Amino acid sequence: MSNGNFTPDADSEKSMKCDVCDIDMEVERGIFGSTSFASSMAGKKVKYDHFKCKFRDTDWHLQAYQLFKEAENTPSGILSGLLEREAASIIISKKATKQINKWF
Ligand SMILES: [Zn+2]
Repeated sequence: MSNGNFTPDADSEKSMKCDVCDIDMEVERGIFGSTSFASSMAGKKVKYDHFKCKFRDTDWHLQAYQLFKEAENTPSGILSGLLEREAASIIISKKATKQINKWF
């Protein structure tokens, strides 16, 4: 998961949906630059499109993203079901159920 932020090769994707809240993401096309810290260190530049969810910086989006990630990481099927259910209800209500640390 990526919290609604993708940088595919230029023109490789017509449209993309947010992997957290499932809306069509906004796109900026034909950017020339580095898509990651590592490629920036290597001086590698490519042409890419930047897809971004307009909600990605909101508290509820970040919390839902972290819940999905937690659901992926836990070995427990019961917990992962609970986490996914909470994430789904947060996405529907667009309201965080807990204050979370943005820089976590
Ligand atoms: Zn989103």
